[in-house]
Amino acid sequence: MDHSAFRGGVFLDGSGRGIKSDHMPTDAELRRALKERVRYYKELGIYDFYRHPVPAAVAMDAADLPVARAATVAQGDKSVGAPRAPQPAPSAQSAVDPATALRLIREDLGDCTRCPLHKQGRKQIVFGVGNPRADLMFIGEAPGADEDMQGEPFVGRAGQLLNNMIKAMGLRREEVYIANIIKCRPPGNRTPEREECETCSPYLFRQIQVVQPKAIVALGAVAAKTLLAINAPMAELRGRWYDFRGTKLAVTYHPAFLLRDPRQKKEAWKDLQMVMKELGLVAPPRTSE
Ligand code: URA
Repeated sequence: MDHSAFRGGVFLDGSGRGIKSDHMPTDAELRRALKERVRYYKELGIYDFYRHPVPAAVAMDAADLPVARAATVAQGDKSVGAPRAPQPAPSAQSAVDPATALRLIREDLGDCTRCPLHKQGRKQIVFGVGNPRADLMFIGEAPGADEDMQGEPFVGRAGQLLNNMIKAMGLRREEVYIANIIKCRPPGNRTPEREECETCSPYLFRQIQVVQPKAIVALGAVAAKTLLAINAPMAELRGRWYDFRGTKLAVTYHPAFLLRDPRQKKEAWKDLQMVMKELGLVAPPRTSE
């Protein structure tokens, strides 16, 4: 298998409604600010908020997590601020090493029955794979048939192309972390429903919080829209930096789309080059084969 087949831009391979008044801050100014923030989220289409009790020690730990990376988002670039959507509280995961923390999240998921996909033919949960301390994280949409069979994201044809993209960036698959917005295969590979994304993505957010990548690449519209709460065509979403909870996020085309429309590989390569520049990566020399 030739993993070097992406070069020079050409891939060769083929609601506020959840916030109860007894949880509201007593300070009038803070309450007003909170109301304003909830209204803002609603405008963006975010309605569900989660509030879990956080032990003080863990809360302090969490404060040190990805938020600190906000400083790495350069002023004056094309970044836009995405809302810091509420997320499940970090558990003991933040006090342990990333590999163990990821295992705890996986254990938390268990044999998940939180959305209807568990009874719609999924064989197994496809959690995520790669370096628990990766600088770069790729996030796709949902497992397909191959992934459902093998329990690993991006192992089918789209996965081979993703491997080539990673290699073209001067990295190995094992060096990055790969996951999806949802962890179970939708029947017939249909697009995930909004509820499925909303139910499942908090676990992905916890994975991101543990890995603390320097950059995230959202592969395709479902990943981009879920992570950024923005509804826009792919052509508009790509080609710029966003902020995801303090981590730089770029959007590019999904490898499955690139397999269908290989002319767009050139555009995807531009997106990857933007990421390479940010991470100080250099494309490996071309080899002739
Ligand atoms: N497509 C995805 O979005 N994710 C996978 O894991 C495989 C194909």
